[in-house]
Amino acid sequence: MGRGLKKKDLILILIILCVIGLTFLIRTYIGGSGANRAVIKVNGAIQGVYSLSEDKEIEINEGTNILRIKNGEADMVKADCPDQLCVNQKPVSKNHESIICLPNRVVVEVESKEESEYDAVTN
Ligand SMILES: [Zn+2]
Repeated sequence: MGRGLKKKDLILILIILCVIGLTFLIRTYIGGSGANRAVIKVNGAIQGVYSLSEDKEIEINEGTNILRIKNGEADMVKADCPDQLCVNQKPVSKNHESIICLPNRVVVEVESKEESEYDAVTN
């Protein structure tokens, strides 16, 4: 009987350890490199929020603009606007950096949890 109880206790401790481990993993994943996000706005309305830690190509505004996320940076790779200013802009990766396509009313802005906290302190 005593032995059986100890085994149950051990299992319980193992479960608790697993939960703590998982929480730690999830926290590192969310708070780590996944903190920087690209916010895509069309006409002032948010169309999507994408993590910069995942490489991906995004069609904006039904394909008028194509944004590519690669190596933690967001870059406008294609646009049907006449000026092509957004395509010629440098890739963005830091907090508050943005790519703007005026003719298509597309704005891509980078948001970073860590840096916005830092901003709050310096301001
Ligand atoms: Zn453009």
